[in-house]
Amino acid sequence: MRILVTGGAGFIGSHLIDRLMTAGHEVLCLDNFYTGHKRNIQQWLGNPNFELIRHDITEPIRVEVDQIYHLACPASPVHYQYNPIKTIKTNVLGTINALGLAKRLKARILLASTSEVYGDPDVHPQTENYWGNVNTIGIRSCYDEGKRVAETLAFDYHRQNGVDIRVVRIFNTYGSRMLENDGRVVSNFVVQALKGIPLTIYGDGSQTRSFCYVSDLVEGIIRLMNSDRLGPMNLGNPGEYTILELAQIIQEMVNPEAKLKYEPLPQDDPKQRQPDITLAKSWLGWEPTIPLREGLKLTIDDFRSRVKVN
Ligand code: NAD
Ligand code: UDP
Repeated sequence: MRILVTGGAGFIGSHLIDRLMTAGHEVLCLDNFYTGHKRNIQQWLGNPNFELIRHDITEPIRVEVDQIYHLACPASPVHYQYNPIKTIKTNVLGTINALGLAKRLKARILLASTSEVYGDPDVHPQTENYWGNVNTIGIRSCYDEGKRVAETLAFDYHRQNGVDIRVVRIFNTYGSRMLENDGRVVSNFVVQALKGIPLTIYGDGSQTRSFCYVSDLVEGIIRLMNSDRLGPMNLGNPGEYTILELAQIIQEMVNPEAKLKYEPLPQDDPKQRQPDITLAKSWLGWEPTIPLREGLKLTIDDFRSRVKVN
């Protein structure tokens, strides 16, 4: 198949492209390089089955493909809050452009949505039928509400125009190729521990997240795309940890001498998050296979090869 991946030079997108290229597909990688990098897809440059398109998805695009994975959007709070209006535009205009392309081509399109549509959840663990608790005017809204509108657009294009959609709600994912300055918790803690500077815990560290290794996530995304279910479907690792526990695990694995430092909790930071993956298990036969410490080891090794250690 010929497959378009928007946001393909980013963290998850580039791992997805590795899988699609290895499976023998023709891949078009579209990216504006906001948080993505050429080095993530460097191994495919020059391959006749691979094409790189520098393009901003907020502008319409004409290409001919059979499937579209629509991932373009910064995912780290630091990067999506840097230019919140651009983040909304990417989620709304970018998703309209991706869905419009799918409509014209009669191509199947998978939207990368997020657990952030549940906001600061009142239901735990989060099931797909929970409608969420999102602040419409907070600093996370450009992303959370942007993704909620993106889901609405996907389902309206489906109902109104028969577009063949898939919607995945991705929970916190980590792994190799995360940026050193990504700003998300796993990369921050690993880089800080490697550099021997204090690990920055926001709040008292009692808030929880559930961390999925990127190869597990990509497997689930590909299975959903090629299944007959539309979603929305949660994909994530149900193993739930407090942020303090995560800091202590990384401290122990990288640098037991590293100190912990407490900083203010950002506004609207969700207190608890864990995916209910019953649907993914029963519809796709999918569940994560890589435990936290094993995934962290791979991530730490990757950062060790890139980060300048003092
Ligand atoms: P990332 O920031 O590494 O990748 C996003 C990619 O999209 C980057 O390559 C960036 O340059 C590109 N991009 C951003 N705006 C664009 C635009 N306007 N036009 C073209 N390209 C643009 O993030 P990621 O972690 O790989 O996330 C990929 C997708 O998965 C995102 O849609 C994100 O919302 C979703 N997601 C990720 C997580 C996670 O934990 N990583 C969790 C939930 C949802
Ligand atoms: N966090 C932290 N220290 C950091 C970065 C993040 O304590 O250096 C916390 C953050 O406040 C949140 C959790 O870790 O409670 C996960 O943050 P991240 O930005 O990775 O993802 P998200 O909040 O979008 O789930």
